[in-house]
Amino acid sequence: MRPAGDLFIVSSPSGAGKTTLIRRILADPVFAGSIHFSVSHTTRAPRPGEVHGREYHFVSPEEFESLVSRDGFLEHAVYDGHRYGTSRGEVEPRMAAGIDVLLDIDVQGARQVRSRMPDVVKVFVFPPSRQVLEARLEARGHNSPDSIVRRLAAAAREMGEFGEYDYAIINDVLDAAVDELRSIVVARRSSRRRRQERLEAILRTFPA
Ligand code: ADP
Ligand code: 5GP
Repeated sequence: MRPAGDLFIVSSPSGAGKTTLIRRILADPVFAGSIHFSVSHTTRAPRPGEVHGREYHFVSPEEFESLVSRDGFLEHAVYDGHRYGTSRGEVEPRMAAGIDVLLDIDVQGARQVRSRMPDVVKVFVFPPSRQVLEARLEARGHNSPDSIVRRLAAAAREMGEFGEYDYAIINDVLDAAVDELRSIVVARRSSRRRRQERLEAILRTFPA
């Protein structure tokens, strides 16, 4: 049986670049078939270009609540007035099959996951500065001026929680940041737990 995959949380203030980083990891042939992006449920409306089932499962507040009441979420939280949650179905079967799972979730969700799964690897993505974060939010063009002001205010609060994370990536030069995230995933694959069976098989080739 394959050892279980690992779980990675990637958090950042909105606009710091976690979606971009995760997309690059998912597109990397090195990880083909061995990593899964957990598609969250949300009650917010899709943005232009977002596809149901790809960026999010876009659901009504009633559908979301029904999953909560059936204990269908590993974690869930409210962000900017909308509900977001990671369904167990996105995560547990994949990990059991030996596949690594990436979660793009906020600090509230990260805390809930860690209390249930202490081995989770938590990565925080920082923008290089407030000015750059604001410029990226504006350039992305998805958020109204009001929502940008709210996201910048939330950013300071969110970044103050970086002490709860294992790794900090500063997303300045994109290729360098992608390399760092890739290295974190690869390093985890070399952990003793993931290698246990192969190591034992190697040891068996050495006569006592
Ligand atoms: P998040 O998922 O954290 O909200 P996104 O991945 O949507 O952030 O990135 C926000 C914007 O910044 C996007 O327009 C993206 O193309 C851009 N961006 C991301 N990383 C970089 C980078 N290292 N340099 C320049 N622009 C970037
Ligand atoms: P956005 O609306 O910009 O896609 O996401 C807003 C925030 O919600 C981001 O910080 C993102 O990481 C977070 N988020 C997305 N999905 C989930 C989820 O399933 N659970 C939690 N707790 N946060 C989520």
